[in-house]
Amino acid sequence: MSVETPSPVIKVGSQWRRTPVPFTMNEERIYHLTHQREQEWEQVQQYLGHPGCLMSFLRNSLDDPATENCGRCSICLQQLILPITVDPILVHQVATFLKHAEIVIKPKKQVAANAFIEYGFKGNLATEIQAQEGRVLSRWGDAGWGKMVLDNKHNNHFSDELADALVEMIHNRWQPEPYPTWVCCVPSLNHLELVPNFAQRLAIKLGIPFINTVVKTKENQPQKAQQNRFHQCSNLDGVFAIGQPIPDGPVFLVDDIVDSGWTLTVISALLQEAGSGIVYPLALASTSVKDT
Ligand SMILES: [Zn+2]
Repeated sequence: MSVETPSPVIKVGSQWRRTPVPFTMNEERIYHLTHQREQEWEQVQQYLGHPGCLMSFLRNSLDDPATENCGRCSICLQQLILPITVDPILVHQVATFLKHAEIVIKPKKQVAANAFIEYGFKGNLATEIQAQEGRVLSRWGDAGWGKMVLDNKHNNHFSDELADALVEMIHNRWQPEPYPTWVCCVPSLNHLELVPNFAQRLAIKLGIPFINTVVKTKENQPQKAQQNRFHQCSNLDGVFAIGQPIPDGPVFLVDDIVDSGWTLTVISALLQEAGSGIVYPLALASTSVKDT
């Protein structure tokens, strides 16, 4: 295996940068590491099905030559050490806890430099166009609502149960104040109906109007593919517009999946520039590795 020496660092303007180095994939190293992981996986499988003392299996795996049985593992004792039944009351409590485990979406304040040429957003967003704190119902695929969000997304229809869950969360725990007077949503050119259809049913349950006022004016790359803040911002520049005269009251801005949160930030700013009241982002699931 060859070891690359770090490339020289040079100053460009006021920033220090590494100069580019010619790069080739080290196939041999990749093969070696993959093979090693496969062997480890293989060993775990063997452990799970091992008929003899489990402790001596582990010791031998770690190069200890000792062969005597430990007398304490489930094979030596010939009985399970941990119970495999679960208290149903505990299961119910966990499910309830997870279904009430919504996450706060913190409003973003500072945009990436030179990312919003068309919209003209620079530095810190003015308070008047920042979003309010929002809420996400679940983590994508989690054992609370996240699994239903994932399944529903694949079936291209979000169920009424999720709308009920949002209403319950909004009324019983979040209670935003001043309370929104209307609902709008994040548009998508790939799934034209999915989110608007859900937002409309949610609005009916909340007893306030749904106004489909945000339009997507051009196709862009998926937001989740953007690797850093500059690309997450510039990928949204000029992509959305506000379509029609809009109410000046506070509004819920609904989306299905939130990742970095920049889409909600940008549309919140555009809505308020167009004359809406304050904007509360609201989403079904977060795919962010950090909590938003
Ligand atoms: Zn043993």
